[in-house]
Amino acid sequence: MSAFELYPWQHEAWAQLMHDPARLPHALLLTGEPGIGKRRFADRLAAWFLCEAADRSTAPCGGCDGCRWQLAGNHPDFRLLSPDDGEADESEEGAKPDTKAKKKSAIINVENVRELTDFVQLTSHRAGSRVTLVCPAEAMNTAAANAFLKTLEEPPQGARFILVSHHWRRLLPTVRSRCRVFALPQPDLAAASQWLAEQGVVDPALHLAHTGGSPLAALEDASAEWLPLRASLLEHLGNPGALDVLAVAAEFDRAKVEMALLVEWLQKWVHDLVSLGLTGKVRYYPDCREALSRLAPRAAGMTAYAERLFDAKKLAHHPLNARLVIESLLFDYLAALKSAGSPR
Ligand SMILES: [Zn+2]
Repeated sequence: MSAFELYPWQHEAWAQLMHDPARLPHALLLTGEPGIGKRRFADRLAAWFLCEAADRSTAPCGGCDGCRWQLAGNHPDFRLLSPDDGEADESEEGAKPDTKAKKKSAIINVENVRELTDFVQLTSHRAGSRVTLVCPAEAMNTAAANAFLKTLEEPPQGARFILVSHHWRRLLPTVRSRCRVFALPQPDLAAASQWLAEQGVVDPALHLAHTGGSPLAALEDASAEWLPLRASLLEHLGNPGALDVLAVAAEFDRAKVEMALLVEWLQKWVHDLVSLGLTGKVRYYPDCREALSRLAPRAAGMTAYAERLFDAKKLAHHPLNARLVIESLLFDYLAALKSAGSPR
């Protein structure tokens, strides 16, 4: 793969952005669904700003000092502001966290932004641009966002800001309004499937279903180390009569499954149960259609349970007793099925 390559579904957006490069704004907000490759697009744009090739057209050359430093991850005129700072290369943007819970901050705090402000105010080492990438921008807490806003409002000469956001509505409106919003596309099923097949994924459509259509998440879905755990959970959910809650909770506790991931699997299952009853459609787990169909007639209590899961998701990053939380989620699942009427 050559340097700073785009995903196949991004070429049109890139061409559109580069239609008149001289008029690119100093602050650009890249928006779109998680797992569509916004980060890669942003990295290419950052490299383009830092490229020093005399004949630089609308793509970073990949060979000049600026490009090579950027590729090596040590360009002096580039800063990444990210809660995953230092680990940012480890996983693609939008990819799911891995099974083992890692200790890392989920927010960008005001101290991080203050360091950035010092960087932005300096003159460029290479007499060119100074580029800041904020990813994801919604990770800034309010104090951080307000501090960042000051920098955005009075940008020094040559300062460029690229903000990446999966949930742009969560940004401070004042920050949003200082940026040009540029929405990146989600590939259609055919394009996403073709790309996944090229990566060696055997059943692209199934993995795209599991992730709601995000190709990067689907790629991980095809090979993640937690796959057997999810398969086990879905198996249990599909056989509520035989579900031994205490044993299953202990199993998942031992495996140290990240709570947010577990809740998400439950949410998708419940979504499919309800959707199957209402519209006959299964969105996320077409491979479990049979079990879902058996349970769909008993899904009336699932709407309340979905709200329960929504609350659980909000608490998923807090250090609660995982085993107890899983037990209570599974007991509530069984109760929601019973409340719907006569079990068969
Ligand atoms: Zn270059």
